[in-house]
Amino acid sequence: MIRHLYLPLLILLSACSSESSPSDQFNTKLVEVDILIHSGQVFDSKSKHLQSMDLAICGTMICDIYPTGSKQLKAKRVIDAKGKVVSPGFIDPHTHALAELKSHDKNHNLNYLTQGVTTVIVGNDGDGSANIEQLREQLLNNGIGTHVGMLVGHGSVRQQVMGKAKRMPTAKELNAMESLVEQAMKQGALGFSSGLYYVPQNYADTDEVVALAKVAAKYQGIYDTHLRDESSFSIGLLPAVDEAIAIATQANIHLHLAHLKALGVDVWGQSDAVIAKVEQAQAQGLSISADQYPWLASGTKLHNAVMPKWVMADSQKAFFDRLNDPKLYQQLNSEITENLRRRGGGKALLITAFKDEQLVGQTLEQVATELGKSEVDTAIELVQRGEVRVASFNMSEQDLESFIIKPWVVTSSDGTDGHPRKYASFPQKYQQYVKRNPLLTLEAFIYQSSTKTADILGLKNRGQLATGMFADVIIIDIANYRAQADFSHWNRYSTGVETVFINGQISIDNKKYTGRLAGEVLK
Ligand SMILES: [Zn+2]
Repeated sequence: MIRHLYLPLLILLSACSSESSPSDQFNTKLVEVDILIHSGQVFDSKSKHLQSMDLAICGTMICDIYPTGSKQLKAKRVIDAKGKVVSPGFIDPHTHALAELKSHDKNHNLNYLTQGVTTVIVGNDGDGSANIEQLREQLLNNGIGTHVGMLVGHGSVRQQVMGKAKRMPTAKELNAMESLVEQAMKQGALGFSSGLYYVPQNYADTDEVVALAKVAAKYQGIYDTHLRDESSFSIGLLPAVDEAIAIATQANIHLHLAHLKALGVDVWGQSDAVIAKVEQAQAQGLSISADQYPWLASGTKLHNAVMPKWVMADSQKAFFDRLNDPKLYQQLNSEITENLRRRGGGKALLITAFKDEQLVGQTLEQVATELGKSEVDTAIELVQRGEVRVASFNMSEQDLESFIIKPWVVTSSDGTDGHPRKYASFPQKYQQYVKRNPLLTLEAFIYQSSTKTADILGLKNRGQLATGMFADVIIIDIANYRAQADFSHWNRYSTGVETVFINGQISIDNKKYTGRLAGEVLK
């Protein structure tokens, strides 16, 4: 009877543990797992419940999981997790972490590990390079602290084929773009992303995106999109959602709406209409999900926030020439004024990163007063002096809350410098929307930060704690799980995540980073 119970474990052990030899296989006394996480409140993705379980890790995999006390296993190391939450490692479907993963000092991705994130997705907003193979090699040679999954981006393939040209592609150019997307999908991209708000993707029509999304669909990829308009900048939020649904319907692909929000006073209150559109399309058979970060401010660059798209066409030189062309000033002035109004004015734009550090921590309104200029003229001046990162306080609590309770909305960071979302989105969501204002249960928070996200991305062996899954496991001291970063200190590590396993390797051990770079590039 005992032998019968141990048999599945033994078979697995013989495959993954260097310790067991074939002759060990029928001697249950010699069964020894690498790690036993004992007596934690373990999240079960099927029942969506936490219960007291023991979880065993052998090599890179979870090799056993059972109610605490129902079995005895010998382990090289036992971690007592009594009173702690044991969860699948979180998966962040929208980051901008690639540059740091390529770096030699931030490739540990510690700002994500300390939130409990074990996998980050890069290449969102249309930014992802088509050369997945080269990136993978580069990252694996460098060593990375979390897993990474890649999307190929509309912006990068369009720019590679036709620069920043403000026109439709020729048939030949479209073909070249399709080939690049195909190459990336064959090399392991998880899907195709677009950022139709941004130049040069903004110049593309719906059909162009459909053609490229179709290529990703052929390889079971997803379509991840930063909408053409999250506000009232061009076509408007609701028509932009319609466009995304139309693209996914025509391309027959899973639609994922990135960092879902209603940006700016003109569209506040439209969350209900967005949700109705999504749920109606779902009812008609389209598979749709979204991600969201739990902050009322977005983070972007000042030029992307307030400059009209036509001003930025072609090259930086052309952009600056237009900014200084007296003949264009009147039009510029009125369009920038309007863009500022939508975002709540200069007082709602906080400068969070800029080479002139004196300006960091000031609003555009404050800088304008200091310079004795209008907000428009100040913006025109600043964007020419260098890259200005801003936190743009443009969302309403009510819209954020309407989205966050939807079961098809998962947690993300959209992490960028200058915004605490990069260091603290996951614990912030827990503190704000599980503890303080309990719109979500702890279990729903975990599910929508791990299992559901793995499902969306097609990551088959991750996002769940079950035998045969890769051991991406976190142990959280939930009473201390909180954001330490805020808008004045955006880069403080979060607290509460005590232990992190990446593919069975211990990366954070009793709150200390071990220096291990155990992440891999997921296909
Ligand atoms: Zn985006």
